[in-house]
Amino acid sequence: MAHVIEPAPTGRAKCRGCGGKIAASELRFGERLPNPFADGETMHWFHLVCAAFKRPEPFLEALAAGPQPLDDAEQLASEARRGAAHRRLPRIDGAERSPSGRAQCRSCHEPIAKDAWRILLVFYEEGRFVPAGYVHVRCSRAYFETADILPRLQRFAPDLRDEDLKEIEQELGQSAPA
Ligand SMILES: [Zn+2]
Ligand SMILES: [Zn+2]
Repeated sequence: MAHVIEPAPTGRAKCRGCGGKIAASELRFGERLPNPFADGETMHWFHLVCAAFKRPEPFLEALAAGPQPLDDAEQLASEARRGAAHRRLPRIDGAERSPSGRAQCRSCHEPIAKDAWRILLVFYEEGRFVPAGYVHVRCSRAYFETADILPRLQRFAPDLRDEDLKEIEQELGQSAPA
């Protein structure tokens, strides 16, 4: 039962973390899991960055098993260790402007106003990422125990523009602890 880090043999596999394709020969992380439908095992593939962000513990296990030399191993490991220490960080699934005023923030339980920035959350349940609601960007520090999350937001919301990121960064800077 070992997870792996290896070059992708083809460009066909999709990343479970972001839904994007993993390019051929790009290094990928494979999480080995029991097959839910039959005997044996199945592999879930991730970009290395997506694995460090969303599956920190198994990713750290694979890193520790070596021996592949990764250029950015230390940075990836450090992000994964943060995700293992702050248990809610791996839930981050991007950011967006709230399309309505109907959703409630999981942290402060206030409604999230239409057009306000919110962070999308997912729970990892039995091998799947399940949508799990939202928190205000300004509630980041209270909810995640850290506001140092911009790279995670960018990774899972690649369409955010520079001006969006500036606004989000500003709100993160103002977010208050719990
Ligand atoms: Zn990915
Ligand atoms: Zn809130």
